[in-house]
Amino acid sequence: HTWKFGLAGELRQAAARSPARVALIDEGGVTTYGELLDRTSRLAAALPVEPGDRVGILSRNSSAMVEALIAVATLGADPVLMNTGLSPEQLAAVARDQRLALILHDASLVPPPGVPALPFGQIGYVTPLTKPPSRPGRTIILTSGTTGVPKGAHRPTPGGFSPLCSIIDRIPLTAGVRMLIAAPLFHTWGYAGLQIALALRATVVLRSRFDPADTLDTLADQDCTAMIAVPVMLQRLLEQPAREVPLKIVAVSGSALPGGLATRFMDSYGDVVYNLYGSTEASWASIATPADLRAAPTTAGRPPHGTIVAALDEDGRPVPPGTPGRLFVGNEMLFEGYTNGAARELNGGLLATGDIGHLDEEGRVFVDGRQDDMIVSGGENVFPSEVEDLLAARPEVREVAVIGVADDRYGQRLAAYVVLHEGAELTADAVRDHVRARLARFSVPRDVVFLPELPRNATGKILKRELA
Ligand code: ATP
Repeated sequence: HTWKFGLAGELRQAAARSPARVALIDEGGVTTYGELLDRTSRLAAALPVEPGDRVGILSRNSSAMVEALIAVATLGADPVLMNTGLSPEQLAAVARDQRLALILHDASLVPPPGVPALPFGQIGYVTPLTKPPSRPGRTIILTSGTTGVPKGAHRPTPGGFSPLCSIIDRIPLTAGVRMLIAAPLFHTWGYAGLQIALALRATVVLRSRFDPADTLDTLADQDCTAMIAVPVMLQRLLEQPAREVPLKIVAVSGSALPGGLATRFMDSYGDVVYNLYGSTEASWASIATPADLRAAPTTAGRPPHGTIVAALDEDGRPVPPGTPGRLFVGNEMLFEGYTNGAARELNGGLLATGDIGHLDEEGRVFVDGRQDDMIVSGGENVFPSEVEDLLAARPEVREVAVIGVADDRYGQRLAAYVVLHEGAELTADAVRDHVRARLARFSVPRDVVFLPELPRNATGKILKRELA
Protein backbone atom coordinates (compact mmCIF):
# COMPACT_ATOMS: atom_id res chain seq x y z
CA HIS A 1 0.00 0.00 0.00
CA THR A 2 1.69 3.18 -1.19
CA TRP A 3 0.18 5.35 1.57
CA LYS A 4 1.17 3.06 4.37
CA PHE A 5 4.66 4.34 5.07
CA GLY A 6 6.62 7.49 4.43
CA LEU A 7 5.49 11.04 5.08
CA ALA A 8 2.10 10.58 3.38
CA GLY A 9 1.41 7.39 5.32
CA GLU A 10 2.54 8.77 8.67
CA LEU A 11 0.35 11.83 8.20
CA ARG A 12 -2.71 9.69 7.34
CA GLN A 13 -2.24 7.67 10.52
CA ALA A 14 -1.67 10.75 12.68
CA ALA A 15 -4.70 12.54 11.20
CA ALA A 16 -6.92 9.48 11.71
CA ARG A 17 -5.96 9.17 15.36
CA SER A 18 -5.38 12.75 16.48
CA PRO A 19 -7.14 15.05 13.98
CA ALA A 20 -7.44 17.97 16.41
CA ARG A 21 -3.86 17.88 17.62
CA VAL A 22 -1.69 20.74 16.39
CA ALA A 23 0.79 19.45 13.82
CA LEU A 24 2.55 22.64 12.75
CA ILE A 25 3.08 26.13 14.08
CA ASP A 26 4.92 28.73 12.03
CA GLU A 27 4.90 32.54 11.79
CA GLY A 28 1.66 32.27 9.78
CA GLY A 29 -0.35 30.29 12.33
CA VAL A 30 -1.41 26.86 13.49
CA THR A 31 -2.33 23.73 11.47
CA THR A 32 -3.88 20.64 13.04
CA TYR A 33 -3.20 17.11 11.81
CA GLY A 34 -6.70 16.97 10.34
CA GLU A 35 -6.18 20.24 8.47
CA LEU A 36 -2.74 19.18 7.29
CA LEU A 37 -4.14 15.99 5.75
CA ASP A 38 -6.95 17.92 4.09
CA ARG A 39 -4.62 20.61 2.71
CA THR A 40 -2.00 18.16 1.43
CA SER A 41 -4.66 16.00 -0.26
CA ARG A 42 -6.16 19.04 -2.01
CA LEU A 43 -2.76 20.39 -2.98
CA ALA A 44 -1.76 16.98 -4.35
CA ALA A 45 -4.87 16.91 -6.54
CA ALA A 46 -3.99 20.34 -7.97
CA LEU A 47 -0.35 19.68 -8.83
CA PRO A 48 0.64 18.98 -12.44
CA VAL A 49 2.76 16.02 -11.38
CA GLU A 50 2.86 12.32 -12.30
CA PRO A 51 3.98 9.43 -10.10
CA GLY A 52 7.75 9.09 -10.49
CA ASP A 53 8.35 12.76 -11.37
CA ARG A 54 10.99 14.58 -9.38
CA VAL A 55 9.76 17.80 -7.82
CA GLY A 56 12.16 20.34 -6.33
CA ILE A 57 11.17 21.97 -3.06
CA LEU A 58 12.98 25.25 -2.45
CA SER A 59 12.04 26.82 0.83
CA ARG A 60 13.08 27.86 4.29
CA ASN A 61 11.30 26.09 7.14
CA SER A 62 7.56 26.76 7.05
CA SER A 63 4.24 24.94 7.24
CA ALA A 64 3.78 25.52 3.49
CA MET A 65 7.04 23.69 2.86
CA VAL A 66 5.86 20.67 4.87
CA GLU A 67 2.54 20.71 2.97
CA ALA A 68 4.33 20.77 -0.38
CA LEU A 69 6.67 17.98 0.65
CA ILE A 70 3.84 15.71 1.77
CA ALA A 71 1.63 16.60 -1.22
CA VAL A 72 4.37 15.54 -3.62
CA ALA A 73 4.91 12.28 -1.72
CA THR A 74 1.13 11.70 -1.69
CA LEU A 75 1.22 11.71 -5.50
CA GLY A 76 3.93 9.08 -5.64
CA ALA A 77 6.38 11.67 -6.96
CA ASP A 78 9.84 12.19 -5.46
CA PRO A 79 10.45 15.43 -3.56
CA VAL A 80 14.00 16.76 -4.03
CA LEU A 81 14.94 19.01 -1.14
CA MET A 82 16.92 21.97 -2.42
CA ASN A 83 19.39 23.70 -0.14
CA THR A 84 18.48 27.41 0.08
CA GLY A 85 22.12 28.28 0.70
CA LEU A 86 23.22 27.16 -2.79
CA SER A 87 24.21 29.79 -5.35
CA PRO A 88 21.94 30.33 -8.41
CA GLU A 89 24.46 28.35 -10.52
CA GLN A 90 24.46 25.45 -8.04
CA LEU A 91 20.65 25.43 -7.92
CA ALA A 92 20.56 25.33 -11.72
CA ALA A 93 23.06 22.45 -11.69
CA VAL A 94 20.91 20.55 -9.17
CA ALA A 95 17.76 21.14 -11.26
CA ARG A 96 19.55 19.75 -14.34
CA ASP A 97 21.27 16.90 -12.52
CA GLN A 98 18.05 15.76 -10.87
CA ARG A 99 15.94 16.28 -14.02
CA LEU A 100 13.28 18.17 -12.05
CA ALA A 101 9.80 18.24 -13.61
CA LEU A 102 8.63 21.10 -11.40
CA ILE A 103 9.86 23.28 -8.56
CA LEU A 104 7.58 24.32 -5.70
CA HIS A 105 9.04 27.26 -3.84
CA ASP A 106 8.67 29.91 -1.25
CA ALA A 107 7.66 33.14 -3.05
CA SER A 108 10.62 34.97 -1.47
CA LEU A 109 13.16 32.65 -3.14
CA VAL A 110 14.14 32.61 -6.79
CA PRO A 111 14.00 29.17 -8.45
CA PRO A 112 16.54 28.37 -11.17
CA PRO A 113 15.40 29.03 -14.75
CA GLY A 114 14.52 26.28 -17.23
CA VAL A 115 12.13 24.29 -15.01
CA PRO A 116 8.44 25.12 -14.46
CA ALA A 117 8.05 26.65 -11.01
CA LEU A 118 5.09 27.41 -8.78
CA PRO A 119 5.26 29.59 -5.67
CA PHE A 120 3.45 28.08 -2.66
CA GLY A 121 0.57 30.56 -2.28
CA GLN A 122 -0.42 30.40 -5.95
CA ILE A 123 -1.50 26.80 -6.28
CA GLY A 124 -5.23 26.21 -6.18
CA TYR A 125 -6.58 23.77 -3.62
CA VAL A 126 -9.17 21.48 -5.19
CA THR A 127 -11.10 18.34 -4.24
CA PRO A 128 -8.88 16.12 -2.13
CA LEU A 129 -7.03 13.29 -3.82
CA THR A 130 -8.37 10.01 -2.46
CA LYS A 131 -6.73 7.38 -4.65
CA PRO A 132 -3.23 6.22 -3.73
CA PRO A 133 -0.63 6.45 -6.52
CA SER A 134 0.93 3.51 -8.32
CA ARG A 135 4.23 3.92 -6.49
CA PRO A 136 5.36 5.49 -3.21
CA GLY A 137 7.14 8.87 -3.27
CA ARG A 138 10.82 8.68 -2.28
CA THR A 139 12.45 11.73 -0.81
CA ILE A 140 15.78 12.79 -2.29
CA ILE A 141 18.11 14.79 -0.08
CA LEU A 142 21.23 16.55 -1.29
CA THR A 143 24.41 15.88 0.64
CA SER A 144 26.02 19.03 2.02
CA GLY A 145 28.50 19.14 -0.82
CA THR A 146 31.31 19.65 1.69
CA THR A 147 33.58 17.66 -0.58
CA GLY A 148 32.22 18.63 -4.00
CA VAL A 149 28.96 19.20 -5.88
CA PRO A 150 25.95 18.17 -3.78
CA LYS A 151 24.91 14.60 -4.60
CA GLY A 152 21.29 13.46 -4.46
CA ALA A 153 20.71 10.58 -2.05
CA HIS A 154 17.55 8.47 -1.98
CA ARG A 155 16.28 8.36 1.58
CA PRO A 156 14.77 5.03 2.52
CA THR A 157 11.10 4.97 3.45
CA PRO A 158 11.36 3.32 6.81
CA GLY A 159 8.64 0.88 7.63
CA GLY A 160 8.18 -0.64 11.03
CA PHE A 161 9.52 0.41 14.37
CA SER A 162 13.26 0.21 14.02
CA PRO A 163 14.17 3.82 13.10
CA LEU A 164 12.00 5.29 15.81
CA CYS A 165 13.16 2.72 18.37
CA SER A 166 16.74 3.64 17.66
CA ILE A 167 15.95 7.26 18.53
CA ILE A 168 13.87 6.71 21.65
CA ASP A 169 16.36 4.10 22.80
CA ARG A 170 18.64 7.03 23.69
CA ILE A 171 16.55 10.20 23.52
CA PRO A 172 13.48 10.39 25.77
CA LEU A 173 11.20 11.91 23.14
CA THR A 174 7.55 11.06 23.79
CA ALA A 175 4.34 11.07 21.78
CA GLY A 176 2.82 14.52 21.37
CA VAL A 177 6.05 16.34 22.32
CA ARG A 178 6.27 20.01 21.27
CA MET A 179 9.46 20.41 19.30
CA LEU A 180 11.17 23.28 17.55
CA ILE A 181 12.87 22.10 14.37
CA ALA A 182 15.52 24.78 14.03
CA ALA A 183 17.72 22.77 11.64
CA PRO A 184 16.72 23.31 8.00
CA LEU A 185 14.13 20.79 6.78
CA PHE A 186 16.02 20.46 3.50
CA HIS A 187 18.95 18.93 5.38
CA THR A 188 18.98 15.33 6.57
CA TRP A 189 18.81 16.22 10.23
CA GLY A 190 15.87 18.63 9.92
CA TYR A 191 14.08 16.16 7.64
CA ALA A 192 14.74 13.33 10.11
CA GLY A 193 13.24 15.60 12.80
CA LEU A 194 10.07 15.86 10.72
CA GLN A 195 9.92 12.07 10.22
CA ILE A 196 10.34 11.51 13.95
CA ALA A 197 7.74 14.18 14.73
CA LEU A 198 5.12 12.61 12.44
CA ALA A 199 5.73 9.17 13.91
CA LEU A 200 5.27 10.62 17.41
CA ARG A 201 2.35 12.81 16.34
CA ALA A 202 4.29 15.70 17.76
CA THR A 203 3.63 19.42 17.44
CA VAL A 204 6.35 20.92 15.25
CA VAL A 205 7.29 24.56 15.63
CA LEU A 206 9.04 26.13 12.63
CA ARG A 207 10.74 29.46 12.03
CA SER A 208 11.92 30.59 8.61
CA ARG A 209 15.26 31.81 9.92
CA PHE A 210 17.44 30.95 12.86
CA ASP A 211 17.82 33.95 15.14
CA PRO A 212 19.19 33.09 18.58
CA ALA A 213 17.16 35.64 20.59
CA ASP A 214 13.96 34.74 18.70
CA THR A 215 14.70 31.03 19.25
CA LEU A 216 14.82 31.48 23.02
CA ASP A 217 11.55 33.49 22.91
CA THR A 218 9.91 30.84 20.73
CA LEU A 219 10.99 27.97 22.99
CA ALA A 220 9.47 29.76 25.97
CA ASP A 221 6.32 31.12 24.26
CA GLN A 222 5.49 27.86 22.47
CA ASP A 223 6.44 25.72 25.45
CA CYS A 224 8.82 23.55 23.44
CA THR A 225 10.56 20.87 25.44
CA ALA A 226 12.62 19.58 22.52
CA MET A 227 14.72 21.17 19.82
CA ILE A 228 16.36 19.73 16.68
CA ALA A 229 19.45 21.81 15.91
CA VAL A 230 22.92 21.91 14.37
CA PRO A 231 25.98 22.55 16.57
CA VAL A 232 26.62 26.17 15.57
CA MET A 233 23.13 27.05 16.84
CA LEU A 234 24.13 26.05 20.38
CA GLN A 235 27.11 28.34 20.10
CA ARG A 236 24.88 31.26 19.02
CA LEU A 237 22.34 30.55 21.78
CA LEU A 238 25.11 30.65 24.38
CA GLU A 239 26.06 34.15 23.22
CA GLN A 240 22.62 35.35 24.36
CA PRO A 241 21.86 36.14 28.00
CA ALA A 242 20.67 32.84 29.49
CA ARG A 243 16.95 32.74 30.20
CA GLU A 244 14.34 30.36 31.49
CA VAL A 245 13.22 27.92 28.77
CA PRO A 246 11.32 24.63 29.14
CA LEU A 247 13.93 22.64 27.16
CA LYS A 248 14.57 19.04 28.15
CA ILE A 249 16.09 17.76 24.91
CA VAL A 250 18.38 19.49 22.43
CA ALA A 251 19.32 16.97 19.74
CA VAL A 252 22.19 18.17 17.54
CA SER A 253 23.72 16.59 14.48
CA GLY A 254 25.15 17.41 11.06
CA SER A 255 28.69 18.31 12.01
CA ALA A 256 31.06 17.75 14.89
CA LEU A 257 30.11 19.31 18.19
CA PRO A 258 33.18 21.42 19.06
CA GLY A 259 34.87 20.22 22.25
CA GLY A 260 33.50 21.87 25.36
CA LEU A 261 30.37 23.26 23.66
CA ALA A 262 28.05 20.57 24.98
CA THR A 263 29.33 21.01 28.53
CA ARG A 264 29.05 24.81 28.39
CA PHE A 265 25.53 24.57 27.03
CA MET A 266 24.53 22.11 29.74
CA ASP A 267 26.06 24.32 32.42
CA SER A 268 23.60 27.04 31.34
CA TYR A 269 20.54 25.00 30.33
CA GLY A 270 20.81 21.74 32.24
CA ASP A 271 21.66 18.23 31.03
CA VAL A 272 19.75 18.42 27.76
CA VAL A 273 22.26 17.89 24.93
CA TYR A 274 22.13 14.77 22.74
CA ASN A 275 24.82 14.54 20.05
CA LEU A 276 23.98 12.40 17.03
CA TYR A 277 26.61 11.30 14.57
CA GLY A 278 25.29 10.53 11.15
CA SER A 279 25.07 11.55 7.53
CA THR A 280 22.67 11.83 4.63
CA GLU A 281 23.79 8.37 3.61
CA ALA A 282 23.77 6.58 6.97
CA SER A 283 21.05 8.44 8.93
CA TRP A 284 21.85 8.43 12.63
CA ALA A 285 24.65 6.04 13.54
CA SER A 286 25.46 6.87 17.15
CA ILE A 287 23.89 8.98 19.87
CA ALA A 288 25.57 10.55 22.90
CA THR A 289 23.36 11.24 25.91
CA PRO A 290 24.02 14.08 28.37
CA ALA A 291 25.65 11.50 30.67
CA ASP A 292 27.96 10.35 27.83
CA LEU A 293 28.87 13.98 27.12
CA ARG A 294 29.56 14.73 30.80
CA ALA A 295 31.88 11.70 30.89
CA ALA A 296 33.54 12.36 27.51
CA PRO A 297 32.66 15.83 26.08
CA THR A 298 33.71 15.07 22.48
CA THR A 299 32.03 11.68 22.10
CA ALA A 300 29.41 10.92 19.48
CA GLY A 301 28.00 8.32 21.87
CA ARG A 302 27.01 4.75 21.16
CA PRO A 303 25.20 3.04 18.31
CA PRO A 304 21.53 2.78 19.29
CA HIS A 305 19.09 -0.12 18.89
CA GLY A 306 19.53 -1.88 15.55
CA THR A 307 22.76 -0.13 14.61
CA ILE A 308 26.38 -1.17 14.31
CA VAL A 309 29.35 1.19 14.12
CA ALA A 310 32.74 -0.36 13.38
CA ALA A 311 36.22 1.13 13.07
CA LEU A 312 38.06 -0.98 10.48
CA ASP A 313 41.61 -1.05 9.18
CA GLU A 314 42.59 -0.97 5.51
CA ASP A 315 41.94 -4.72 5.24
CA GLY A 316 38.47 -4.43 6.72
CA ARG A 317 39.39 -5.85 10.13
CA PRO A 318 38.19 -4.18 13.35
CA VAL A 319 40.90 -2.09 15.04
CA PRO A 320 41.41 -2.28 18.82
CA PRO A 321 39.77 0.31 21.11
CA GLY A 322 41.55 3.66 21.03
CA THR A 323 43.03 3.07 17.56
CA PRO A 324 41.71 5.19 14.68
CA GLY A 325 40.10 3.32 11.79
CA ARG A 326 37.68 3.92 8.95
CA LEU A 327 34.16 4.17 10.33
CA PHE A 328 31.47 1.90 8.88
CA VAL A 329 27.77 1.89 9.77
CA GLY A 330 25.05 -0.72 9.53
CA ASN A 331 21.38 -0.03 10.28
CA GLU A 332 17.97 -0.22 8.63
CA MET A 333 18.11 3.39 7.49
CA LEU A 334 21.02 3.35 5.06
CA PHE A 335 20.30 5.40 1.95
CA GLU A 336 19.25 3.54 -1.17
CA GLY A 337 21.85 4.99 -3.53
CA TYR A 338 22.89 8.19 -5.23
CA THR A 339 20.61 9.55 -7.94
CA ASN A 340 23.60 9.79 -10.30
CA GLY A 341 24.31 6.08 -9.86
CA ALA A 342 27.63 6.68 -8.03
CA ALA A 343 28.69 3.59 -6.12
CA ARG A 344 28.37 3.30 -2.35
CA GLU A 345 31.13 1.44 -0.57
CA LEU A 346 29.84 -1.44 1.48
CA ASN A 347 31.78 -3.94 3.55
CA GLY A 348 29.70 -6.91 4.70
CA GLY A 349 26.55 -4.78 4.57
CA LEU A 350 28.18 -1.91 6.46
CA LEU A 351 28.44 1.46 4.72
CA ALA A 352 31.69 3.41 4.54
CA THR A 353 31.14 6.86 6.07
CA GLY A 354 34.27 8.54 4.75
CA ASP A 355 35.13 9.38 8.36
CA ILE A 356 38.02 8.26 10.54
CA GLY A 357 37.23 7.53 14.15
CA HIS A 358 37.77 5.24 17.09
CA LEU A 359 35.83 3.50 19.82
CA ASP A 360 36.84 3.55 23.47
CA GLU A 361 36.88 0.60 25.89
CA GLU A 362 33.27 1.31 26.78
CA GLY A 363 32.07 1.26 23.18
CA ARG A 364 31.71 5.02 22.81
CA VAL A 365 32.30 6.36 19.30
CA PHE A 366 34.67 9.28 18.64
CA VAL A 367 34.73 10.85 15.19
CA ASP A 368 38.25 12.10 14.53
CA GLY A 369 37.30 13.70 11.24
CA ARG A 370 36.73 13.13 7.57
CA GLN A 371 39.27 11.00 5.80
CA ASP A 372 39.72 13.87 3.31
CA ASP A 373 40.43 16.43 6.04
CA MET A 374 43.25 14.46 7.60
CA ILE A 375 46.50 16.42 7.43
CA VAL A 376 49.77 14.62 6.79
CA SER A 377 52.57 16.84 8.04
CA GLY A 378 56.12 15.52 7.88
CA GLY A 379 54.68 12.00 7.61
CA GLU A 380 52.56 12.38 10.76
CA ASN A 381 48.75 12.22 10.64
CA VAL A 382 46.95 15.09 12.30
CA PHE A 383 43.20 15.46 12.67
CA PRO A 384 42.04 19.08 12.63
CA SER A 385 39.44 18.29 15.32
CA GLU A 386 42.13 17.62 17.91
CA VAL A 387 43.62 21.08 17.49
CA GLU A 388 40.24 22.76 16.97
CA ASP A 389 38.83 21.31 20.19
CA LEU A 390 41.84 22.49 22.13
CA LEU A 391 41.66 26.04 20.79
CA ALA A 392 37.85 26.27 20.96
CA ALA A 393 38.07 25.71 24.70
CA ARG A 394 39.97 29.01 25.16
CA PRO A 395 37.69 31.74 26.49
CA GLU A 396 38.88 34.27 23.87
CA VAL A 397 37.98 32.00 20.96
CA ARG A 398 34.52 32.18 19.41
CA GLU A 399 35.25 29.59 16.75
CA VAL A 400 38.15 28.02 14.97
CA ALA A 401 38.93 25.85 11.97
CA VAL A 402 42.17 24.06 11.15
CA ILE A 403 43.16 22.88 7.68
CA GLY A 404 46.27 21.56 5.95
CA VAL A 405 48.02 23.79 3.42
CA ALA A 406 50.75 22.74 1.01
CA ASP A 407 54.25 23.02 2.42
CA ASP A 408 57.53 22.57 0.53
CA ARG A 409 59.30 20.95 3.41
CA TYR A 410 56.64 18.93 5.27
CA GLY A 411 54.18 18.18 2.48
CA GLN A 412 51.46 19.88 4.48
CA ARG A 413 51.47 22.25 7.41
CA LEU A 414 48.62 23.28 9.71
CA ALA A 415 46.83 26.57 9.31
CA ALA A 416 44.45 27.75 12.03
CA TYR A 417 41.68 30.24 11.26
CA VAL A 418 40.53 31.86 14.47
CA VAL A 419 37.51 34.06 15.22
CA LEU A 420 37.76 35.88 18.55
CA HIS A 421 34.91 37.00 20.77
CA GLU A 422 34.21 40.70 20.56
CA GLY A 423 36.81 42.62 22.56
CA ALA A 424 38.95 39.52 23.24
CA GLU A 425 42.66 39.58 22.48
CA LEU A 426 44.94 36.74 21.51
CA THR A 427 48.16 36.68 19.49
CA ALA A 428 49.27 34.13 16.93
CA ASP A 429 52.17 33.21 19.23
CA ALA A 430 49.80 32.59 22.14
CA VAL A 431 47.76 30.28 19.89
CA ARG A 432 50.87 28.32 18.91
CA ASP A 433 52.18 28.20 22.49
CA HIS A 434 48.84 26.87 23.71
CA VAL A 435 48.97 23.97 21.26
CA ARG A 436 52.72 23.38 21.69
CA ALA A 437 52.25 22.91 25.45
CA ARG A 438 49.58 20.24 24.98
CA LEU A 439 50.02 18.37 21.70
CA ALA A 440 52.78 16.93 19.54
CA ARG A 441 55.13 19.29 17.68
CA PHE A 442 53.59 18.42 14.30
CA SER A 443 50.14 19.48 15.55
CA VAL A 444 51.18 23.11 16.08
CA PRO A 445 49.64 25.40 13.43
CA ARG A 446 52.40 27.35 11.75
CA ASP A 447 49.94 29.74 10.13
CA VAL A 448 47.47 31.50 12.40
CA VAL A 449 44.96 33.76 10.69
CA PHE A 450 42.41 35.87 12.55
CA LEU A 451 39.11 36.31 10.70
CA PRO A 452 35.88 38.19 11.54
CA GLU A 453 33.88 35.03 10.76
CA LEU A 454 34.21 31.59 9.18
CA PRO A 455 32.60 30.66 5.86
CA ARG A 456 29.69 28.32 6.58
CA ASN A 457 27.01 26.63 4.49
CA ALA A 458 23.29 26.90 5.20
CA THR A 459 23.46 24.13 7.81
CA GLY A 460 26.31 25.81 9.65
CA LYS A 461 29.05 23.52 8.37
CA ILE A 462 32.41 25.24 8.03
CA LEU A 463 33.45 25.38 4.36
CA LYS A 464 37.04 24.27 4.63
CA ARG A 465 37.52 24.32 0.88
CA GLU A 466 36.85 28.05 0.90
CA LEU A 467 39.33 28.59 3.69
CA ALA A 468 41.94 26.76 1.64
P1 ATP B 1 29.26 15.56 1.00
O1 ATP B 1 28.99 14.09 1.11
O2 ATP B 1 28.60 16.18 -0.18
O3 ATP B 1 30.68 15.92 1.16
P2 ATP B 1 28.60 15.87 3.78
O4 ATP B 1 29.15 14.51 3.96
O5 ATP B 1 29.22 17.00 4.51
O6 ATP B 1 28.50 16.24 2.23
P3 ATP B 1 26.33 15.34 5.45
O7 ATP B 1 25.73 14.03 5.17
O8 ATP B 1 25.44 16.44 5.85
O9 ATP B 1 27.08 15.82 4.16
O10 ATP B 1 27.43 15.24 6.59
C1 ATP B 1 27.81 14.04 7.22
C2 ATP B 1 29.18 14.18 7.84
O11 ATP B 1 29.18 15.19 8.86
C3 ATP B 1 29.63 12.92 8.56
O12 ATP B 1 30.18 11.97 7.69
C4 ATP B 1 30.64 13.49 9.56
O13 ATP B 1 31.88 13.76 8.92
C5 ATP B 1 30.02 14.81 9.96
N1 ATP B 1 29.21 14.69 11.18
C6 ATP B 1 27.86 14.66 11.28
N2 ATP B 1 27.45 14.58 12.55
C7 ATP B 1 28.56 14.54 13.32
C8 ATP B 1 28.82 14.44 14.74
N3 ATP B 1 27.84 14.39 15.63
N4 ATP B 1 30.12 14.39 15.15
C9 ATP B 1 31.13 14.45 14.25
N5 ATP B 1 30.96 14.56 12.93
C10 ATP B 1 29.70 14.60 12.45
